[in-house]
Formats: sequence, structure tokens, C-alpha cells
Amino acid sequence: MIKNLFLMLSAALVASSATTSLADQGADFSWPAGARAAVNLAYDDALGSQLDNAIPALNRYGLKGSFYLTLSGDTVRNRLDEWRLAARQGHELGNHTLFHQCSGSKPNREWVKPHEDLDLISADELVAQIQLASTMLHAIDGRTERTFTVPCGDREAAGEDYVKRVESEFIAIKVYAGGVVPDMADIDPDALGGYSPVEVSGEQLISVVKEAASKGTMANFTFHGIGGDHLSVSSQAHEELLQYLSDNSEVYWVDTLIKIMKYVESQGPE
Ligand SMILES: [Zn+2]
Repeated sequence: MIKNLFLMLSAALVASSATTSLADQGADFSWPAGARAAVNLAYDDALGSQLDNAIPALNRYGLKGSFYLTLSGDTVRNRLDEWRLAARQGHELGNHTLFHQCSGSKPNREWVKPHEDLDLISADELVAQIQLASTMLHAIDGRTERTFTVPCGDREAAGEDYVKRVESEFIAIKVYAGGVVPDMADIDPDALGGYSPVEVSGEQLISVVKEAASKGTMANFTFHGIGGDHLSVSSQAHEELLQYLSDNSEVYWVDTLIKIMKYVESQGPE
């Protein structure tokens, strides 16, 4: 959406013989309050270790994260009050579908159960499930605007691009792997990246936000387990990142994906 706006503006400027380029638009971009980078700390799959470890750590530092709930997850059934409390504390609850369908035909996908195989569900049915997931999230936190993270980064349900079909329902969508936005002029809110760290050190996590600051862009993390569960990062490494962000709060704007992307949209040319 933003990209299209930039392209439209660029075309208009070319037509009027102005010299502003796409690159100039990116260079002109600035974050609020002089920050050099925005950082979104996101956590997928509604895992217990996020309620046990990630949210208490974020709250200790006064930082807000984005939690992409798989609505069929155990914690949504058994610990719903805690997710509701997280939303009240200012954390974002995002859509990560009802059942987390991924493509079973891709390499190393033996774990995909036949009844949760993205290759075997129509885009029509999945779109209806995603809409129901947003309705459930509304029932949990009362909010109507939402962002979405595509399970496994797989865009196609039974061979059809389902993500295109839900773009208009979300402020932003995380699709692919990759944590640092290369250039704000090229950002596509419907196709953001996310870096999924696994068993890395605090130093490695910090190097990602430093890269975003050097580029003046944005770092998107997609964590899973924190100090437990699958694809996990230790509580210590996670804490070291939060400590660094907190110590350098004039450099890093840490916020929910929805708030960051609404700001990015507001910066697009009229
Ligand atoms: Zn997931």
C-alpha cells in the first residue's frame, strides 16, 4: 500500500520533471522523537512460556510486544484471562489463524498433521477461518484493527494465494523470514519479514537492532518459546535484548506492530 503510494508519487514527480527519487523518499523517512529504528518484538503460537516468561519480562521494562495467537492453542483455552490481561497491559494480540495450517509437502514438514495440512484446505475455507480468528480476538480484547502473521510463511492454500485475499482485513502482514527492513522506501505492509531466532545469545539479538539503527529502518522479531517450548530463546538472551533496548530508548522505538505500521502509513505521501 505504502509502496504503491511511493510509486504513484514518484510517477507524478517524474511527470513534473522533479528530481525526487524513491531513494530520496526513504532517506527522508524519520521515526518519532528522533529514534533511529523501530523494533517490534513479536511472539507466535500462543505458547505458555510467553505468558510465563516473555510478558513478565516485557512488563518489567515497560515494553510492549505483539503476540500472534493460534486460537486453537492450549493457552487460549486454559489461560484466556492471562491473554486478556496482556491486552489490557498494552500488548498486541495478533491473528495467527485458528489451526496454524502449514504446507505438508515442503521439506521437513513431517510434523504437519493431515487435518492441518495447508495443501488440503481451500483458500475459501481458510479465509473464513482467519475471519473467525479475528472475531475471536475481538471477543478477547475488544479491538477491531489487527495485524496477521502467516503460519510457516506459506502463502498458498491448496495452491491458491490466500494471503492476497485477506490483505484488506489487516493493518500489516508478516510473511517471510528476514528481520531488518532494508529501506523504508520499499516497505510493503502486506509483506513484512520477521527474524525467528532460535537458541541465540543476547549479543546476537542485539546485533539485529543495531543493524536496523544503522539503516534507520525497522527490526522485526518473531520469537516462539522464551525459556521453554519450541524454537526457543533463553530467558537470559531475551532479557539482555530488553535491557539493551531499555538502556538505549532514545535510539529504539519499541512498540506493537500495529502502532509502528500505523505510524509508517501516516508518513506516506498524501
Ligand atoms: Zn507459528
